[in-house]
Amino acid sequence: MAKSMTKQRDEKQERVIRSLRILGKLYREKGKTTDLGNPKDTLIATVLSAQTTDAQVLRIFPDLKKRYPTFEKLAQARISDLEKSIKSIGFYKTKSRRLKELARDMLTRFNGRVPKTMEELVTLPGVGRKTASIVLSFCFNTPAIAVDTHVHRIVRRLGWTKSDTPKHIEQDLRKLLPKQYWSKINNVLVPFGRDICKSRKPQCWRCPLLHDCPYEPKTPNP
Ligand code: SF4
Repeated sequence: MAKSMTKQRDEKQERVIRSLRILGKLYREKGKTTDLGNPKDTLIATVLSAQTTDAQVLRIFPDLKKRYPTFEKLAQARISDLEKSIKSIGFYKTKSRRLKELARDMLTRFNGRVPKTMEELVTLPGVGRKTASIVLSFCFNTPAIAVDTHVHRIVRRLGWTKSDTPKHIEQDLRKLLPKQYWSKINNVLVPFGRDICKSRKPQCWRCPLLHDCPYEPKTPNP
């Protein structure tokens, strides 16, 4: 007799939670992330990290912060000066404009205090659900699922979802997992994606999730 939908769902949930636990042990140490210890810096660094590695953002961030320590200073900055400060990261021209708009918006609409809800965060220039989720989970301990490029790729390979857009992937994972696991997804899948389940050639031969992963073809030990 075919398994009931509920049973299938429970088994899938168990498998996903088991995988998150395994990866959680493996990547206990926090890697280089845009969690900079306070909402303002984390928000700015995460906005800058779109289409760029966190490591690149972290390289330019100390100097940027020295020049523009507050939203006021950022809002008053000349775009050409901002561009010089972040020139080494991808899309620096667009991001310079966004940063200035973001700072202005933060001051005029939120009095300089980073908002604590998804609904408010996504109204800021340059802030989508991914950035908002990162800010919520890093800074405000609010469960959120940030679907970045690593999460997008890995959850599909692992069969946790069949959806193909960040919005739908986020919805599927929200339905599948209790809230306590939401923030963990990004925390463990990002280092896992950098280390083992890489975009081009996943290193399946050394993957701790090998036997729970339906992705084919698996990459053999070279
Ligand atoms: S077995 Fe390969 S594709 Fe599957 S999760 Fe591991 S590294 Fe990724």
